[in-house]
Amino acid sequence: KRRFPNEPEYHQAVEEVLSTIEDEYNKHPEFDKANLIERLCIPDRVFQFRVTWMDDKGNIQTNMGYRIQHNNVIGPYKGGLRFHSSVNLSILKFLAFEQTFKNSLTTLPMGGAKGGSDFSPRGKSNAEVMRFVQSFMLELWKHIGPDQDVPAGDIGVGGREIGFMFGMYKKLCKEFTGTFTGKGREYGGSLIRPEATGYGNIYFLMEMLKTKGTDLKGKVCTVSGSGNVAQYTIEKVLELGGKVVTCSDSDGYVYDPDGIDSEKLAYIMELKNVYRGRIREYAEKYGCKYVEGAKPWGEKCDIALPSATQNELNGDHAKTLVANGCIAVSEGANMPSTPEAIKVFQDAKILYAPGKAANAGGVSVSGLEMSQNSIRLSWSTEEVDAKLKSIMQNIHEACVKYGTEADGYVNYVKGANVAGFMKVANAMMAQGIV
Ligand code: NDP
Repeated sequence: KRRFPNEPEYHQAVEEVLSTIEDEYNKHPEFDKANLIERLCIPDRVFQFRVTWMDDKGNIQTNMGYRIQHNNVIGPYKGGLRFHSSVNLSILKFLAFEQTFKNSLTTLPMGGAKGGSDFSPRGKSNAEVMRFVQSFMLELWKHIGPDQDVPAGDIGVGGREIGFMFGMYKKLCKEFTGTFTGKGREYGGSLIRPEATGYGNIYFLMEMLKTKGTDLKGKVCTVSGSGNVAQYTIEKVLELGGKVVTCSDSDGYVYDPDGIDSEKLAYIMELKNVYRGRIREYAEKYGCKYVEGAKPWGEKCDIALPSATQNELNGDHAKTLVANGCIAVSEGANMPSTPEAIKVFQDAKILYAPGKAANAGGVSVSGLEMSQNSIRLSWSTEEVDAKLKSIMQNIHEACVKYGTEADGYVNYVKGANVAGFMKVANAMMAQGIV
């Protein structure tokens, strides 16, 4: 905190990890001698730069650009880029820190990074997004590469933005390499990558439900967000027999008691991915409730699937969920539950999976995209989906191994943190003081 004042999200993420790995860490005095914690809390390096671009009216705009290369002991830096007005150093450092442990959990060779800009694509024309992205790449391209640092999407960065970035990167570096993941199918993208985070979260949830002898059939789910992660979370819940009654965007949420079926989901995808409209339009079209400026956690559900952003589910929301009979929370988003909310879930002993474990499917398939690019071959939908499922099952197993408490309750936060940390720590020890 002394070194990095005014970075609350970063402190929150670091404190969560450190508070859960203590017992395991203390078994290894050699880690302490090597000053591992301090070395892990300071990113390898942070790039910050100005991005200047021209809007459609001819005005010159400036934004901040960032890339945090947190740790590369187990593979090239890897992590998404976020374009959102709220982006700052604290948020990107928390995400890069989390990414290091998440990527370690996937068992694939990837280090941790994150980046982005306070540029918001919301309300911008395609031409404006392209001009911004090209200017952003003029700086970022110097720091990335297929064996160095491989960015991907995140909030505000989907297929369109990745396409523009890849095009500019390729022009600047004069090579066609797999330096981005989440690329279009036509130019090196992997099948199942768009679906991977949402599907992976539900595969993880199914493993958790299995430990209680149940599954998704007939379960009522609340989902937040209506972007990439939310859309494919809803798709997989429907496929496995569950019912989704909410989704949201940064303006508010919709509650559809009849459930979002596949036709309504297709409408959401078109609304959000093509027309870039607001979720309120769903309520207008289907005549259901829309609540401006609120989160969906007050609606009764069996399972909550936060899939929008950090700290979107607080202690009071968590108490309401538990009081309403919620049995499981599985995070598609990164750090959506506040520390107070996590405590409520764990005290109530309901199933609770942190994003680090539950949403690792996205970066896992990104890792598989890197493999396919390296061998210059593409795998089928079935192959990638089977690999994704098996990775999520393995992550679940690792969480159970390291997170099971004396009374049998699985503390998935502890399990994910210890499993992720041990591999990174051992690799740092093996590679010496660098
Ligand atoms: P998208 O940009 O596709 O969608 C984000 C959704 O969350 C939108 O509905 C957006 O609403 C909403 N949202 C964003 N910021 C806020 C906010 N401050 N308050 C309320 N709602 C907000 O992003 P993704 O679906 O890709 O990402 C969602 C979450 O999942 C993030 O936490 C991300 O880090 C995490 N994640 C994503 C992965 C991926 O593969 N894409 C992988 C692992 C984690 P609006 O349209 O109004 O902006």
